Amino acid sequence: MKSERICRRCLLFESGRTDVLEEIRRHIEKIPSSDRIDDSVYQDRLTTCSTCDQLADGTCLRCGCYPEFRAAFRKQTCPAKEW
Ligand code: SF4
Repeated sequence: MKSERICRRCLLFESGRTDVLEEIRRHIEKIPSSDRIDDSVYQDRLTTCSTCDQLADGTCLRCGCYPEFRAAFRKQTCPAKEW
């Protein structure tokens, strides 16, 4: 049986889970611009997640979300109040 390694502190784009990432990108494109955070803040949020010990294999262990999706919403916050 092949064991798969968990990529600690990896966002989806780093963990190779391209199928999930593509699905998330399609959903992000459907977020109304009034609800969507601007790109620079989005990238700042993901930079914070990428150094967080609650991130594993593209998933936030704190809330179970994909930060690459959650961070795209203007009104969403980090469950650990990091952003
Ligand atoms: S959303 Fe917050 S708790 Fe979750 S990985 Fe990002 S910084 Fe860490």
